[in-house]
Amino acid sequence: MSICEKCGGIRLVELFQSPYEYLRCIDYIKAMIEDGDFELVEGNCALDEVKDKNGQWADDIIYHLIKCKKCGKEYSCCCNTYRGGGGFLAGR
Ligand SMILES: [Zn+2]
Repeated sequence: MSICEKCGGIRLVELFQSPYEYLRCIDYIKAMIEDGDFELVEGNCALDEVKDKNGQWADDIIYHLIKCKKCGKEYSCCCNTYRGGGGFLAGR
């Protein structure tokens, strides 16, 4: 499957090494959506609510799926905030 120019520049993350790296990835995804090339398909919390104002995670496993508006390719961002791990990868 060929990659469109919007997808060609995506910085995927094989494995989050720290909560900070996950939060940085969420900021990156928010910026991708704000730029207008990608849309949020689903997720188990709002992108700006992965941590509440007390610093608590929204869930043990936080998941978001986004889609390229141009070619339809999907990318999932999943983080296990309890045990650690997760990443930002192509596909569901
Ligand atoms: Zn694309």
